[in-house]
Amino acid sequence: MELIFLGTSSGTPTRQRNMSGLALRLRGARSWVLVDCAEGTQHRILRTPLSVMSLRAVFITHMHGDHCYGLPGLLASAGLLGRTEPLTIVGPPPLRAMIECIMQASELNLPFPLAWFTPDDLAAGPLLPEFSVDATPLSHRIPSWAYGFTEAAIERRLDTDKLRADAIPSSALWGEIQQGRDVVLPDGRAITARDYLLPPRRARRIVVGGDNDRPELLAASAQDADVLVHEATYTEEVLQKIGPGPQHSSAMRVAQFAAGAGVRNLVLTHFSPRYQDGGPLPLSLLEDEARAQYAGHLLLARDLDHYVLDRAGELRLAVE
Ligand SMILES: [Zn+2]
Repeated sequence: MELIFLGTSSGTPTRQRNMSGLALRLRGARSWVLVDCAEGTQHRILRTPLSVMSLRAVFITHMHGDHCYGLPGLLASAGLLGRTEPLTIVGPPPLRAMIECIMQASELNLPFPLAWFTPDDLAAGPLLPEFSVDATPLSHRIPSWAYGFTEAAIERRLDTDKLRADAIPSSALWGEIQQGRDVVLPDGRAITARDYLLPPRRARRIVVGGDNDRPELLAASAQDADVLVHEATYTEEVLQKIGPGPQHSSAMRVAQFAAGAGVRNLVLTHFSPRYQDGGPLPLSLLEDEARAQYAGHLLLARDLDHYVLDRAGELRLAVE
């Protein structure tokens, strides 16, 4: 699985960071999904291998502008480029009304259909072939959700030791068995495929949170996650100064939660623009605060960072 960060700032863009947008896809796949779509997200997409033509679905965590104001522009561009494939959009109920209002007011007629769903609809069954997706309600000034993406298709693995031990010669029949098909060998033996398949590996899972001041709401969702992507808008000191009004998390609170939940890879994002490398409040303040709580693999996302989550659950920067 791959993650490409398209925006990692909260509220307003900075010279280095756009606001929220995150692409997710299976390794090597053309199609991909987008979580949040701040204004300017389509400009970031142009700097990646991704294309709006192969975008399969958009998931919006909540209705604040730094998470969804880029969606009308992205849809319009896909239309101008001649997209005809349907696009799935999952988001809070007001999202559809907002987009349809903009489309009507600007007489935007898209040459492709939109399939609308709310986060609650995800419980009804699978939307995508690549991932099963679930939603967890969070705590923010307006309704906000986290989306969990679990890979849907796990490859079958042959038990080659057993095949050899039973004198089943390596041939095209191994491929048949790997596909799960029972076969008859040239010597007449009937082979049941499942007897020669190893137990499937665990499905990889990535959880992407929306804005949220109670990371513990993700306890169930993060339990089997390989990666948690969560906002860490401030340090705890700044959060205390500002007060609870904005309903964001500090790096300390997210890291404490991740440590307790046994999250293996924690990626922090959605940083307040007050944190800038080279400025009086460097990003290392957030990083140091998180590291003091969390001994796992900690990353602070930067725009256009491209991460690969391998089958063993290791998350690393992709070499382009
Ligand atoms: Zn935000």
